[in-house]
Amino acid sequence: MQEKSEILKLESVANLRITMDDYFSRLRIADQTRAKKIAYCSSVGPAELLYSMGFEVYFPENHGAMLGASKKADTYIPTAVAHGFSPDICSYLTSDIGAFLQNETPLQRSGFTAVPKPDILVYNTNQCREVGDWFAYYARHFGVPVLEINTPLYINKLSPSIITSVAAQFQEIIPELEKVASQKFDMDKFREAIALSHDGCVLWRQVLETAKHIPSPITFFDTAIHIGPIVVMRGTHYAVDYYKVLLAELNQRIKNGVSAVPNERLRLYWDGMPLWFTLGNHAKLFSRLNTCVVASTYSNSWMFDDLDASDPFVSSALAYSKLFIVRADKEKEQVLEKLLEEFSIDGIIYHESKTCPRNSNNRYGLQNRLQKRTKIPFLEIQGDLNDARCYSEEQSIIGIETFVQQLIHKKYK
Ligand code: SF4
Repeated sequence: MQEKSEILKLESVANLRITMDDYFSRLRIADQTRAKKIAYCSSVGPAELLYSMGFEVYFPENHGAMLGASKKADTYIPTAVAHGFSPDICSYLTSDIGAFLQNETPLQRSGFTAVPKPDILVYNTNQCREVGDWFAYYARHFGVPVLEINTPLYINKLSPSIITSVAAQFQEIIPELEKVASQKFDMDKFREAIALSHDGCVLWRQVLETAKHIPSPITFFDTAIHIGPIVVMRGTHYAVDYYKVLLAELNQRIKNGVSAVPNERLRLYWDGMPLWFTLGNHAKLFSRLNTCVVASTYSNSWMFDDLDASDPFVSSALAYSKLFIVRADKEKEQVLEKLLEEFSIDGIIYHESKTCPRNSNNRYGLQNRLQKRTKIPFLEIQGDLNDARCYSEEQSIIGIETFVQQLIHKKYK
């Protein structure tokens, strides 16, 4: 019998820790020995191409999330601001560069002296322009090349000309990668990485879709933690191996009638970024309110199951230009409407993140249009992914508790 309001940890978390520790060990060894080259990559950048060419791949955004979760981001941001970065731009960027300037990183707990030194940096503009300025900073600092795949933002119709252009850019960066990697591009290895990425993404989708079950075996707050391998090891067997374990545990939970939130009474959708510095508090709050946040824009962002090993360049262009964040509101509304139906959603929380407009979808009326069509109520909370100074915990808790009471009244009376 589950105790009321307990937070039920997934047993796979032990396996997750090993998988992530091993990833950072590989990076640390590459950094110390320089036996393998290190590429920085944006979170939805061409990880498969980089892994296929023998790089160890490091993701500054993952590091940014670690800084947020460490609750120290607001001690780093002012240092970046003093170096000319506005406090209004991405707080992953400002906390990451601020920590770098202070020579601090949570990776010091894993034996690093500093973040790994890049041999090359590669990003895709499919999420925001910030990644370009962020990577350019490190390229200047370390005196290494930086490569861009330029995808248009706010895509309404995913036209053949966009796919052709992006696919060509994936190919055009290869000669520079070959120079730095000191090895030739190998199409078979690329196909293999694409196939592994595809399989990892399909497993990740299946993990997220277990939350369609009522009650759900997993919450958004769990997925924000277990997302690690698909972000940083996409294109390797490590991610595939891990999600097989996690999926098996979730299916077992469903079979045994175990729910992530005991006594689940409400099911919510979370739009926008997690608030990393208070993620654990949010998990406890919603559990206490017998409410499961079952789906989210954030965790759905790494589902590149359009990747196809038989056509790796075109399918990469398709997968990485089709993702939610790069689409126009009309497309986003259709995606959200489908998810609300599929996950039996009672209400939506829009997190308007001060420093990440690209991941805040309530700025141009989408929330009102969607409510008009679906009749599903919503709540907006103001905050930020990393900068705790932009968030009022008390105000948000009052808003969330009131919203939940209204939804319970609507659903059960
Ligand atoms: S999408 Fe948002 S959080 Fe991610 S790098 Fe861009 S601005 Fe930062």
